[in-house]
Amino acid sequence: MPSTWDAIVVGGGPAGAATALRLAATGRSVAVLERSRFDRPRVGETLAPLVRPLLEDLGVWERFTGLHPLPSWGTRSVWADPAPVEHSHLVSGYACGWHVDRRAFDRMLADAAASAGAHLWTGTAAVGCRPDGDAWLLACADGHAVRGRLVVDATGRRAGISRALGAGRSTFDRLVALAVRWDGVDVAEEQYLLLEAAAEGWWYTAPLPGAGMVGMLMTDADLCREGGLHASAPWRDRLSAAAVTAARVGAAPLRSAPRAHSAASQRSRRAGDPRPWLSVGDAALSVDPLTGSGVLRALRTAESAADAAGHLLDRPGSAGTVVARYESARDDECARYLADHARHYGDVRRFATPFWRRRRPRRRPDPVRSDPSAPGATMWCREQVDEEDDGARDLR
Ligand SMILES: Cc1cc2nc3c(=O)[nH]c(=O)nc-3n(C[C@H](O)[C@H](O)[C@H](O)COP(=O)(O)OP(=O)(O)OC[C@H]3O[C@@H](n4cnc5c(N)ncnc54)[C@H](O)[C@@H]3O)c2cc1C
Repeated sequence: MPSTWDAIVVGGGPAGAATALRLAATGRSVAVLERSRFDRPRVGETLAPLVRPLLEDLGVWERFTGLHPLPSWGTRSVWADPAPVEHSHLVSGYACGWHVDRRAFDRMLADAAASAGAHLWTGTAAVGCRPDGDAWLLACADGHAVRGRLVVDATGRRAGISRALGAGRSTFDRLVALAVRWDGVDVAEEQYLLLEAAAEGWWYTAPLPGAGMVGMLMTDADLCREGGLHASAPWRDRLSAAAVTAARVGAAPLRSAPRAHSAASQRSRRAGDPRPWLSVGDAALSVDPLTGSGVLRALRTAESAADAAGHLLDRPGSAGTVVARYESARDDECARYLADHARHYGDVRRFATPFWRRRRPRRRPDPVRSDPSAPGATMWCREQVDEEDDGARDLR
C-alpha cells in the first residue's frame, strides 16, 4: 500500500465508485473511503435507459445484469392533468430502463472499482481533511489517517469534504422524500415508474426486484412539519387522496413509519480555490428525484472528474485552470437543470397550494442560502433524518 495515494475518493456511491474505477483503470493508486458497509437500504432505485451505455463504458454491464434488475417499461405520470399519461422507454433507443436494489447496485459498482485496482475501505468514515505538505491527510473515524495527492468529494448530497474545505452551497428548495417500502407485492404488471401530483407535493412509486414496492411522498420540509406528514396516519391519509397511486398499492399495510430523506436541490461550489480536490455526483450538484437522473449524472460527472483528476495529477501547476473548467461545466449543468426543473413544475397548474405556488415559473429559482447550517437548509429536522443521509457533522 502506498504511503501517499494518487487519489483518495471519499464516498463509495455511484459517483465515487465510478471515479475510482476510471482512475484505477489508468494506473493511478486510488483509495476509496466508504462509511457504510452497503448493509442498509438505499433510495434511488429507478435507472433511466441511458444508464446502459454508461455502465458498458465502465465495463460493468455483465455485473449489472447479474443483479437481475427489473426492466422498467416506462413512466406513467398524473401530472398536468388528472388523467394518466404514459411515456414508453421504447423511444429511448434502449428499450427499457431498470428498477434496481440500490444497495446491491452501489455495492456492485464499488466492487468493480476494487477489481480495477482501487483499494476499498468500507465501514470507514472520513471525519477530517487537511493539507499535509504537498498532499492531503484524511482522518478516519476509526483513528487511522490516509494521505493522498488529490481528494475527490463523493459523499453525496451532504458534500462533507466540500463543506469542510470551505465550498459555498446554494440550496434551491427544501424538498424531502417520505419513503416506505412494501414487501410481498406482485410486481409482474407493475414494471413502470408512477408519478402523481398532489396538493402537498407529488408521489413516486416503483417496483423493486424481489417482489417489493417503494412509495414516497415528495413535499417541502416546512409542509411536512406542519402537516406531521412523516407519521404513518397522515401519510396514509394523503396517499388515499392520490387516486392512481392509491389504486396501485391498494391496501398494503405500512410496516413502519415513513423514513425521511433530504431531496433538496443543491449546488456546492468552490470559488478561487486552486487546491487539488474535486467534488463529484450529488456532492457537486444534487437534483430533484423528479428528473430520475441522479445516478446518470453521478456516472457522467465521474467521467469528467476522473479526466480532471488525471490532469491535476500529471500537471499540478495547471490546477487553477483545470478546476475552473471543471466547475464551469458543473455550473452549466446546474443552469440547465434549473431551467428544466422550472418547466416541469410549471406544467402543473391545477393546485393552488404552497408547494406548487412556490414552483410557479414567475418565481425564478434563486440560491436561497449559502449557509449550510441554516435551519432547514438541508433537512428540516435532524432527528428524522436517515443516518445515511446526514453525515455533514462528520466533517468539520
Ligand atoms: C428520495 C430520492 C429518490 C431518488 N430516486 C432516484 C431515482 O429513482 N433514480 C436516480 O437515478 N436517482 C435518484 N435519486 C438520486 C440518486 O440517488 C443520487 O443522485 C445518487 O445516489 C448520487 O450518487 P453519489 O455517489 O453522488 O451519492 P450517494 O449515492 O449519496 O453516495 C455517497 C456515498 O458517500 C458515503 N459517505 C458519505 N459521507 C461519507 C464520509 N464522511 N466518509 C466516507 N463515506 C461517506 C455514503 O455512505 C454513500 O455511500 C434519488 C434521490 C433521493 C433523495
